[in-house]
Amino acid sequence: MFKSVNPATGKEIATYPELTKDEVENRLGKASAAYDSWRKTDIRERTELLLKIADEYEKNKERLARMATEEMGKTLASAIAEVEKCAALFRHYAKEGPAMLEPECWHLASGGIAEARWLPQGPVLAVMPWNYPYWQAVRFLAPTILAGNVALLKHASIVQGVAGLMEDMMRDAGAPEGLFQNLGVKSDAVADIIADDRVVAVTLTGSEGAGQAVAKQAGHHLKKVVLELGGSDPFIVMPSADLDKAVKHAVKGRTQNTGQSCICAKRMIIHTEVYDDFMGRFTEAMKAVKAGDPMADSTDMGPLSSAGQRDTVLDQLEQAQKNGAKLLFGGERLDGEGAYLTAGVLTDIDPAGPVASEEIFGPIAMVFRAKDIDDAVHLANNIPFGLGSSVWTSDKAEQERFIRDIEAGMTAVNQMLASAPEAPFGGIKRSGHGRELARFGLREFMNLKTVMLP
Ligand code: NDP
Repeated sequence: MFKSVNPATGKEIATYPELTKDEVENRLGKASAAYDSWRKTDIRERTELLLKIADEYEKNKERLARMATEEMGKTLASAIAEVEKCAALFRHYAKEGPAMLEPECWHLASGGIAEARWLPQGPVLAVMPWNYPYWQAVRFLAPTILAGNVALLKHASIVQGVAGLMEDMMRDAGAPEGLFQNLGVKSDAVADIIADDRVVAVTLTGSEGAGQAVAKQAGHHLKKVVLELGGSDPFIVMPSADLDKAVKHAVKGRTQNTGQSCICAKRMIIHTEVYDDFMGRFTEAMKAVKAGDPMADSTDMGPLSSAGQRDTVLDQLEQAQKNGAKLLFGGERLDGEGAYLTAGVLTDIDPAGPVASEEIFGPIAMVFRAKDIDDAVHLANNIPFGLGSSVWTSDKAEQERFIRDIEAGMTAVNQMLASAPEAPFGGIKRSGHGRELARFGLREFMNLKTVMLP
């Protein structure tokens, strides 16, 4: 059984049965049958369905958002914004997607024409996390439908209510049976699903460990894999930065979703000339972030997604302090049953120590002092991850230097990094490989067929 526990109260809110092997087999059969017909549909039928699904998300946003808040603790306001963003993504692919699949043509020197056509490949498995339980899954689902592929979701164990509602949205939008199914299984059942001949590829968003397990199995069966494994993004502030704006976005970046976001300002790297000024404002603003009931409008930050997730963050804080880091404030549990943790700031971190190169999935900012731009770039790159980054400077040459030298899949200039339907999303190094969103995400699991014509 899966148990959904409200992290704001510690109370169990629902249980969901785990699928048996026969039920998984049955769903794989349905996926395969759905693919046989869906792959032949006209692109207009696919875009019409995407628009209907968008309408269902929009119509049901309050209900969907409440489920996410109850299952993983994000504020209701942010959950509603997440559902709206999903609707926007379905609409984006409905409108812009067909042009992304136009064939390309070349006249050959030897005579004749070569044409490249984008064709679907079959059912794709998505192993998804709980932190943005709709967005992460929709980021995979919308392009999958447009591509003519079929979607199988293995959602995180703690958000099975969300996964069920996603199935409801598809059914109510009139999607054919089997086009999207939640496989309610634990992670130990994933290897067999990847091995199944009917599954053509797999995408995973989550931790390094989960990514390694999935990539190993996909590699063994020679199946393509896309990995989005999180990171510890640098947020660099240089002397010419607009400090008011930088501080505001540093706080938002570090505390949004209670610090449980793969791209967010996890390591503040501040030029020594503005360090004291930045720190004065930043610490004041971080102290003002209030953790509380995620359903209340006035709450900045809900609990962490589970008591276990809070323990992980507390262990990391303890480790960091054993290694000489200073916890200026925060990182405290609130009284009661909820998995609450106050926003905090860590300084004097050993850049070569264990925690400096880990992802802290909670509202704790690590702050480093950089003596110049070389030092800032060095600190930014001195981790195994390479997902996002945010740089604050009005100096054009510095901006170009960061764009060129920061080892990351994404760099945001004078703004907080956030995903957008139009922009490719993904990382390098141990943050994974492959891209989601835009035309790059759409094409990841398609067959680029070369057609030779006379
Ligand atoms: P996981 O990476 O364990 O979970 C993500 C998904 O992978 C879930 O569906 C999970 O299933 C599944 N999974 C886990 N292990 C395996 C495996 N061996 N084989 C196949 N599937 C697997 O995240 P956690 O919830 O455990 O969080 C741990 C840490 O991961 C966080 O502290 C954070 O650092 C990082 N993380 C990063 C995210 C990001 O967006 N970058 C998102 C979530 C976590 P199940 O839930 O059933 O275990």
